Amino acid sequence: LYNMLQELRGNIRVFCRIRPLFDSTSRSTIDCIGEDGSVMVFDPLKPQSTRKVFQFNKVFGPKATQGDVYKETQSLIRSVVDGYNVCIFAYGQTGSGKTHTMYGPSGGSGQDNGINYMALNDLFHISGARENVKYQINVQMVEIYNEQVRDLLAEDSSATRLEIRTCTSNGQMTLPDAKMLLVGSTEDVINAMKLGETNRASSFTAMNDRSSRSHSILIVHVHGEEDSGEVTNSCLYLVDLAGSERVDRSEATGDRLKEAQHINKSLSCLGDVITALAQKNSHIPYRNSKLTQLLQKSLGGNAKMLMFAHISPEVESFTETISTLKFAQRASTV
Ligand code: ADP
Ligand code: MG
Repeated sequence: LYNMLQELRGNIRVFCRIRPLFDSTSRSTIDCIGEDGSVMVFDPLKPQSTRKVFQFNKVFGPKATQGDVYKETQSLIRSVVDGYNVCIFAYGQTGSGKTHTMYGPSGGSGQDNGINYMALNDLFHISGARENVKYQINVQMVEIYNEQVRDLLAEDSSATRLEIRTCTSNGQMTLPDAKMLLVGSTEDVINAMKLGETNRASSFTAMNDRSSRSHSILIVHVHGEEDSGEVTNSCLYLVDLAGSERVDRSEATGDRLKEAQHINKSLSCLGDVITALAQKNSHIPYRNSKLTQLLQKSLGGNAKMLMFAHISPEVESFTETISTLKFAQRASTV
């Protein structure tokens, strides 16, 4: 019944999250936030311009805590234990709060832990409490940079470029060569994510702020075995996307331009896939990017998807804010 109720609400959910202003004296583009999931934005430098309203399943304002956000996410984690594939991802320009939502500010050790930690913590609790079923949880962690998939948990991660392969038994896309870590506690997960973050940073010291230009993906495999012998397999994908900001073509050259083109392409492919799903099209263009290939089994079918559209409220970000809201609105079926 629980999952049926979920289904009635649709398998695509879009939440908007607005982070606090960095400088409380600067001007905000957020006019008002509705209880019903609407957000109204305007350009405070052009007070005469019309206000624009966007509608989502839920909007979290600057005062929302990590706990408030997780509370609305938690039901999806229960679905994973019930055998559903789930994808949760953070979209938005660099600095808008994606990593804050997914990881939090303190690498799993503090108060403000993000969704990744809370979700895994819950997975252990929920699966541990089920009688007659034994669960095994494994994680993989990869990044996609310039359309290449790299293993973040391998000992020598710089050397491992991964191929996305089709599983012969069920036709689903997998990463058989990415290191799979068995995790039994939140502690194990924190260690795995630390290793991943270290690997992500270390091999590209020359490029600062690389993390905003690649997608990082934590893949959680949940394997359940009932006493009767019946087996369930489901996956949870937790994705911290690359920054969605448009790079000025006149400024970017060389590697920077190449990066920007890859990011633009993969994010627009993701948008196309989600829009096709929201419109219930018969053809879903998964094949057009590594990101959508990899996420395929958690997008569409019975899978459940949640997108967080992150907003930087500063007036300087107005153009990017509109573009993020438009992207998210395309995906939204409300
Ligand atoms: P992104 O990953 O999108 O580039 P970050 O998550 O790194 O952005 O956020 C940028 C900065 O703003 C960080 O210092 C982060 O701690 C802070 N921040 C983001 N969202 C919030 C929030 N909701 N509350 C408090 N601080 C936030
Ligand atoms: Mg980030």
